[in-house]
Amino acid sequence: MVPGARLIVLGKQGAGKGTQCVRLSHHYVIPHISTGDMLRAAVKASTALGREARAYLESGGLIPDEIVLQMVGERLDQDDTRSRGFVLDGFPRTVLQADGLADLLAPAELDLALNLVVPTELVLLRLASRRVCDDCGAIYSTLAPPKVGSTCDVCGGEVLQRDDDTEAAIKTRLDLYDEMTAPLIEWYNAAGRLVEVDGVGTAEEVFDRLVDVVDSHQHGGDFTPPLATG
Ligand code: AMP
Repeated sequence: MVPGARLIVLGKQGAGKGTQCVRLSHHYVIPHISTGDMLRAAVKASTALGREARAYLESGGLIPDEIVLQMVGERLDQDDTRSRGFVLDGFPRTVLQADGLADLLAPAELDLALNLVVPTELVLLRLASRRVCDDCGAIYSTLAPPKVGSTCDVCGGEVLQRDDDTEAAIKTRLDLYDEMTAPLIEWYNAAGRLVEVDGVGTAEEVFDRLVDVVDSHQHGGDFTPPLATG
């Protein structure tokens, strides 16, 4: 059986977190937990959480920590994450969220925080060309569009530009990343969990680098087996 893992992927918007987390999730057979996807789904379904989150998502602002922590806490409490682990995408985004995550996991610990390093000029280009399926969240770009028009190859949904991939919201999100999320890199470094991975290259090249890093830590006995069960 493929061993599970508890991973988080850090990196600026457009660093490739979503694409790589889907691949890591399939490779290690672990749930992909994207707080952005969960929040967008809540907005679309107009749940109480979605109604609260909508304005933050549209402006590119951060949802209050306590709301996100409760949402993630409920997800981490499910059987699949308890038995196999997870790859977290877009969470934590603040030091308070990282502290909250450590509390949610205790006595277990995170295995690795993978920081995808990509220069800002490149993320700006990637964000401008990014297109996303409105139904399943599959990621495309104007350079690698769906096979047929704007119809998602995976689920047949409509492939669109994200509402927050506008110039103003991108600026807000990158500024917030520097202010609120970049300090997490030092936080995980101090905790001995951080690995920086070069995020420049094709999706396959970056994925191979990530797998090399995860496998070498897993085989080196750095992970905290066994994963908690039930
Ligand atoms: P993403 O898809 O990760 O870029 O997230 C899209 C938007 O969802 C962000 O710009 C925030 O408004 C919100 N969001 C996602 N994850 C978080 C989080 N961990 N903390 C606060 N807000 C979040």
